[in-house]
Amino acid sequence: MDKIMYLYADNAATTRMSRTAIDAMLPYMEEIYGNPSSLYTIGQRAKEALEDARARVAACLGANPSEIIFTSGGSEADNQAIYSAAYTGAKKGKKHIVSTAFEHHAVLHSLKKLEREGFEVTYLDVHEDGLVRLEELKEALREDTALVTVMFANNEIGTVQPIREIGALCRERKIPFHTDAVQAIGHVPVNVVDDNIDMLSLSAHKFHGPKGIGVLFVKRGVRVLNLIEGGAQERGKRAGTENLAAIMGMTAAMEEACAKLEENSRTVTALRERLIDGLLTIPHSALNGSREKRLPGNVNFIFEGIEGESLLLLLDDRGISASSGSACTSGSLDPSHVLLAIGRPHEIAHGSLRLTIDESFTEEAIDYIVENVKEVVTYLRGMSPVWRDLVSGKKQFQL
Ligand SMILES: *Cc1c(COP(=O)(O)O)cnc(C)c1O
Repeated sequence: MDKIMYLYADNAATTRMSRTAIDAMLPYMEEIYGNPSSLYTIGQRAKEALEDARARVAACLGANPSEIIFTSGGSEADNQAIYSAAYTGAKKGKKHIVSTAFEHHAVLHSLKKLEREGFEVTYLDVHEDGLVRLEELKEALREDTALVTVMFANNEIGTVQPIREIGALCRERKIPFHTDAVQAIGHVPVNVVDDNIDMLSLSAHKFHGPKGIGVLFVKRGVRVLNLIEGGAQERGKRAGTENLAAIMGMTAAMEEACAKLEENSRTVTALRERLIDGLLTIPHSALNGSREKRLPGNVNFIFEGIEGESLLLLLDDRGISASSGSACTSGSLDPSHVLLAIGRPHEIAHGSLRLTIDESFTEEAIDYIVENVKEVVTYLRGMSPVWRDLVSGKKQFQL
């Protein structure tokens, strides 16, 4: 290895802010810093900007401005959507929810809380390819189903669900449908009308916008309850002085991502394919999740006979920032709930590597990653007692 390349390959965890997004924020910190609820000029200018941002965000999603609620991010939007539908349903005696086993923890932990309160949740199987089956969803729907919540694209393995079909099924049965689209927005086409979505969560920092800001889309006519009590901001559905600078940054980032979506998707998908092909040359390795129905920038592998954490540390030494799957589980010894949900056995689910790339990558960067992952995997296997047992035949290879 002659020269180190510094590569940020963890864009599913967060992204670098774009220049456009930063520039869009500055005036709202330096000049138009008024409170949008204030009546004097500087407050009213802030209010105008806020409503302009709302309209622009709505346009990107195919929504109406009155259907947009600004939140502190994806987690808050997920919580609000799920509790709203659950408690609204419960009033009519509906206490059943349908979801999947590999949702983000913002969804899963909200569902767990509802289960403790007496709700019943059916977790759909996501199969080995990381995709739900429509027939299984159809079978899971009941008279007392208050909500279906299925993520648009998975944050660990990048698989993209048949959202439009899921939405159509729910609409036919008049069941509210929420999707956590945090990984999808800005990366794959999303239109709330065409995709039959009633509620959708998104977060700016996953598409080169600022952290701590997101959106809950709620279709007109669908009831939404507020999580935070206080002032009448966001039509009384989310109290608290609006984070206008962040909202402006998010709006600029979203417009940029949506405008460049096709071009970026083409570039990033080609790079992803090169990366997958390169990593598949490593023996006893496999791609997690469907190769076709996945986000342009997501590559998630398992390597038999190694431990993900050591792999990450050694890659970091070589300038590569990657992840073993989910940022939330690092530090714990439990394997990823997503890999277990797609049927990867416990013993090998530890050896996972998630690389999430964006449009700033080049073929040279991809080749650098492939070469370094190969070297590090070989090195770690050389020291691994598990690998020794596999090679000697004492244990069976699973990949
Ligand atoms: C990042 C992420 C979230 C959480 O969003 P925050 O804005 O960080 O709260 C929720 N769901 C998915 C799928 C994510 O990737």
